[in-house]
Amino acid sequence: MSNDVTSGPSETTARKPDLITVGGAEAPLVDRFKRQISYLRLSVTDRCDLRCSYCMPERMKFLPRKEVLTLEELYELACGFIDRGVTKIRITGGEPLVRRDIIDLFEALGRRIGNGLEELTLTTNATQLASHADSLAKAGVRRVNISLDTLDRETFARLTRRDALPQVLEGIAAAREAGLRVKLNAVALKGVNERELPDIVAWGHSQGFDVTLIEVMPLGDIDGDRLDQFLSLGEVRARFEERWTLTDIDYATGGPARYVGIAETGGRLGLITPLTDNFCDGCNRLRVTATGQLYPCLGGAERVDLRSALRSDDRVRNLAEALARAMHIKPERHGFRMDERGAEPAQPRHMSVTGG
Ligand code: SAM
Ligand code: SF4
Repeated sequence: MSNDVTSGPSETTARKPDLITVGGAEAPLVDRFKRQISYLRLSVTDRCDLRCSYCMPERMKFLPRKEVLTLEELYELACGFIDRGVTKIRITGGEPLVRRDIIDLFEALGRRIGNGLEELTLTTNATQLASHADSLAKAGVRRVNISLDTLDRETFARLTRRDALPQVLEGIAAAREAGLRVKLNAVALKGVNERELPDIVAWGHSQGFDVTLIEVMPLGDIDGDRLDQFLSLGEVRARFEERWTLTDIDYATGGPARYVGIAETGGRLGLITPLTDNFCDGCNRLRVTATGQLYPCLGGAERVDLRSALRSDDRVRNLAEALARAMHIKPERHGFRMDERGAEPAQPRHMSVTGG
């Protein structure tokens, strides 16, 4: 891979990233509700080495590789978004670290930090983090979100259908040693990690990590009933308050989490409540899948095909039009619902496809 600051990943040297001006326009991306887009979640693969039961079925069908954008295309798209005002990019998936040569993309995008990009980060299950943490830090990543739904090896093996907790804990330790700031994310799951949630929070805080709890969302079919999994964070908070002193705090990371401080642990707890407390008013993000499909809302069917624009002859103009369309169709709020009427997938797309 070249050291040229303007170059993309090595598989890309053939084409110049002339999408630096996606749409030829430098105007910021603002939707119909006057929300300015500053945050891109870019999925680099829908594949994963775990099979979390709330995320996908055991026999998940993955996308054919030929449909997935090359690293160069991902880089070019990302640069285009940066030039339209995106300052934060989160690389996600599927599991981003299972994509071959993914560090090349981090290195290339890392060179945009300070040149339009303020933050480059990722969400990972940490199974491969032990071998990548140093490279990520060197590429300019400062913070990493790690999904950890249980600290119990058997529960982990049942929940993710893989016996990988020791690897994940090694990955977390490596991230810390590499100087990355870690935030733990745990999905609250009724009857699965429900009783363990305080231990996960206490452990995370004892390690100096922020911890965020997430309500499970009805995205894609799984081997089971989502209603059985759903646990309201209002209920979790009430239980936490029986043992700890929780105070709402004015802390924000640009995401949908609302934070509380816990006096006894001295740590911060984020609560992401898509089902019970809507947070769409401040939405500043877009999601692009590994095949270049832009979803302006995680919970909506609205979609714009950036791949065909990217691969067209007049790609600069076509991408500008695609982004203008995305701004026009971004809905005011998501329509997630899980109640007595059922929990049909609000969207047939799995979170691993859209990018979590
Ligand atoms: N594989 C990486 C990981 O697990 O961190 C990144 C992708 S994963 C899809 C991103 C986040 O989405 C994880 O924190 C995961 O727990 C969460 N997630 C997956 N399916 C979900 C669902 N149906 N509802 C809520 N969160 C979900
Ligand atoms: Fe993989 Fe992340 Fe989905 Fe778990 S939540 S199956 S780690 S993509």
